[in-house]
Amino acid sequence: MPRTKKVGSSGRFGARYGKGVKKRVIEIERVQKRKHVCPHCLKPGMRRLASGIWTCRKCGLKIAGKAYEPGTG
Ligand SMILES: [Zn+2]
Repeated sequence: MPRTKKVGSSGRFGARYGKGVKKRVIEIERVQKRKHVCPHCLKPGMRRLASGIWTCRKCGLKIAGKAYEPGTG
């Protein structure tokens, strides 16, 4: 019997979390998987290094941003 239910990418969090949290996780993961364009070289090479810290693989730029998305807006 599989341990993970098929509820999208949030399935691995199991049943300990409620519906609302699951929805939020899906939302966050969608944002994280999106290509983030570097404000310096304008290439979609931005990666989240840690919560609120983003780095560009192309030019090495490191910026502080929101926890799940670079920049402030
Ligand atoms: Zn860059």
